[in-house]
Amino acid sequence: MVSDSTLEALGGRGAPTPAFGHDALVVCDNLVRIYQTGSVEVQALQGLDLLVDAGEMIALVGASGSGKSTLLALLSAMDAPTAGRARVGRWDLMAMSSRDRVAYRQQMVGVVWQQTSRNLLPYLTARQNVTTPMTFTRRRRRSARAGELLDLLGVAHVADRMPREMSGGEQQRVAIATALANEPQLLLADEPTGELDTTTSQEVFDALRTANREAGTTVVVVTHDPSVSAQVERTVAIRDGRTSSEVLRRDADGDVTHEEYAVMDRAGRVQVPREYREALELTRRVRIALEGDHVSVRPDGSPR
Ligand code: ADP
Ligand code: MG
Repeated sequence: MVSDSTLEALGGRGAPTPAFGHDALVVCDNLVRIYQTGSVEVQALQGLDLLVDAGEMIALVGASGSGKSTLLALLSAMDAPTAGRARVGRWDLMAMSSRDRVAYRQQMVGVVWQQTSRNLLPYLTARQNVTTPMTFTRRRRRSARAGELLDLLGVAHVADRMPREMSGGEQQRVAIATALANEPQLLLADEPTGELDTTTSQEVFDALRTANREAGTTVVVVTHDPSVSAQVERTVAIRDGRTSSEVLRRDADGDVTHEEYAVMDRAGRVQVPREYREALELTRRVRIALEGDHVSVRPDGSPR
């Protein structure tokens, strides 16, 4: 049993404010995913908070093993969270029947995986791949709609080719078209350019941006490519299964600026970057003070 005052200390859940992220499309609130293999427990997500607004395109970055694929598996309803809260649109990912999962994957999300071979059926042409999920489109419309999507993503020329007759970048762009077939509100891509060279990666990334701008799809893309931050409005870094920092790119009077933010969780916890901790020898206990318009953090031994 947790008392109200403990809940208050854990982030003021008792306060009469709107629910965390009530107007966001994607809400992850203190999300936990623990993998259990035999006696070994891996905490892949350790209380991750993330909000994504409808219409946004964000990049998710982080070291290998930090929990990025785990998060995408949860958001695509391929996997279920251990604890916390996760909502996408009207779908509560914590309480989904297997029928809900199928409907969610058909209607709400489109997914593109890193392995090109995992995205497309090898014995169908590009156009056939794109029409396959279209159970909500009238039969006579399907082929035309597939053509429009392939055209939008710059791969109309491969419409009648099999995946093995396309380059890796073409396959990934066809995969994006296939993911968009049912007009999902959310497009998830897990390192979609991981197997591609730089030039081809840019084409695939441009296709994701087209999906975001032209089709209005909200896009969450996991990437290793640091240059991607310059191309999206928001880059969220995941460290040890938590969101640790965000880079916002703002266009003010045509100027492109990058600003890096630390993320404060709902309990008020902020991760101080390692360089800062080392520079000032900040360890277990620190002095924290309100200084007018900012908050200072000092080593324990420093004078007040
Ligand atoms: P990333 O995509 O950022 O590289 P993952 O989400 O794949 O990270 O993995 C996060 C952690 O969870 C890693 O320690 C990984 O070994 C572990 N993990 C991922 N999937 C499983 C699984 N099916 N069973 C056990 N551990 C897993
Ligand atoms: Mg991964």
